[in-house]
Amino acid sequence: MSKVAIVRCSAYEQAEVDEAVRQACMQASMPSVEGMRILLKPNILSDAKPERNITTHPMVVRSMIRLLKEHGAKQILVGDSPGLQVPNFLPKLSGIHQVCLEEGAEWVDFTKQPRLHTIPYTSNKQLLLTSVLSEVDMVFSLPKFKTHQLMYATGAVKNLFGLVPNLSKSPCHVLFPTREQFASLMVGIAEVVKPSFSLMDGVIGMEGPGPANGRPRHLGLLLASTDALALDYAQAQIMGYSSEQVPIIAEGLKRGIGSVPSSYPVLDARELVLPDYQRIEVQKRTRFVHSLIIPFFFSKLIRWKVKKDRKAPVFLVDPCIRCRKCIDICPAHALTMQDKRIIIDEKACIRCYCCHEVCPVSAILVDETIPS
Ligand code: SF4
Ligand code: SF4
Repeated sequence: MSKVAIVRCSAYEQAEVDEAVRQACMQASMPSVEGMRILLKPNILSDAKPERNITTHPMVVRSMIRLLKEHGAKQILVGDSPGLQVPNFLPKLSGIHQVCLEEGAEWVDFTKQPRLHTIPYTSNKQLLLTSVLSEVDMVFSLPKFKTHQLMYATGAVKNLFGLVPNLSKSPCHVLFPTREQFASLMVGIAEVVKPSFSLMDGVIGMEGPGPANGRPRHLGLLLASTDALALDYAQAQIMGYSSEQVPIIAEGLKRGIGSVPSSYPVLDARELVLPDYQRIEVQKRTRFVHSLIIPFFFSKLIRWKVKKDRKAPVFLVDPCIRCRKCIDICPAHALTMQDKRIIIDEKACIRCYCCHEVCPVSAILVDETIPS
């Protein structure tokens, strides 16, 4: 039974968040955590102040820690690994590190001795995941309600990609260039991790060109479920997407890692649909007859099709602060700095939009924002 509890939480006021998190977790039948070691995985795409709405709000993380302590958790670890993580990274700007200190939770570094895992649904590709996974009894995914330029929506399943340490994430966009292939990778990671519970911060979400440069949208909601995919399904419903349109949900349902919500014990996602929510426009699926084409030609064909279907990002000169983060994260090495401007090699660019995610000043435009 995949019930999804959706509760009201009008603002980031700690007492209200505490109560709403408690209600959401109880209504969603949070598993017993007594004596357990729990890893909380908030979304810290890049360490940014809570007002930017990029990260899971620290009050939501605090309320979750408090509830777990109340329910007898033995140890609570908190971690994430942004793409451009510096050594000994601490999420100070987002306020999450301070919450850990004040609530007695331990911040953990995912870059220390990660281990290779074989990821299902990816032709047995191997990927590094944090070794913390082997030290805990349960993983709780704490995503933020956001759009995502590549995957349309980012939720409890996509949030687990942060268990891959920092720059190890970038090559995945080269290996899995289509939305559908990337969705298979996300679903495969979820299958390996098997998150026990998910709580989504939708008090203020993000619409438009997410996950880093979209606009804040007040939703006043928290969503919780033991089924990460069902939770993402509910989020997609509220955004106005169908399950077939969001590749991670379509792939997750096909692979059986989760299911369609069987009930909504508090608020019903179908009655919360936001007709004016600024979604990412859905593009046609990339379809190929794999078995008929030899692998080398097939990979070339996929790259050609991806480039044809998706626009390359555009780099604005004025807002750019020349931090070089886009250059550092680009898995295709398509970016250079010349005369204090970012220059893109459009032939090399694989349209993964990692640069857009890490730009701290919205100096990169993708898809919907690029004039044709
Ligand atoms: S330029 Fe941006 S979108 Fe293109 S490959 Fe590099 S990171 Fe990805
Ligand atoms: S990440 Fe943004 S601000 Fe930094 S160099 Fe690239 S375009 Fe400029």
